[in-house]
Amino acid sequence: MKVNPYYSANLSDANVFHDHSRCPVGMAIEKADKRFGTNGYPRCRDCVKLG
Ligand SMILES: [Zn+2]
Repeated sequence: MKVNPYYSANLSDANVFHDHSRCPVGMAIEKADKRFGTNGYPRCRDCVKLG
């Protein structure tokens, strides 16, 4: 399922944004690090694969 774009503010995480509810990379982001928007990052490859 598509969700609003979000990314991790944690610099040790990949500089990508996520927009799929089942993305494993996105799901691993700590709640405190989660930010809404794309931050100008490219789209996460796992999210692309999930559609
Ligand atoms: Zn993703």
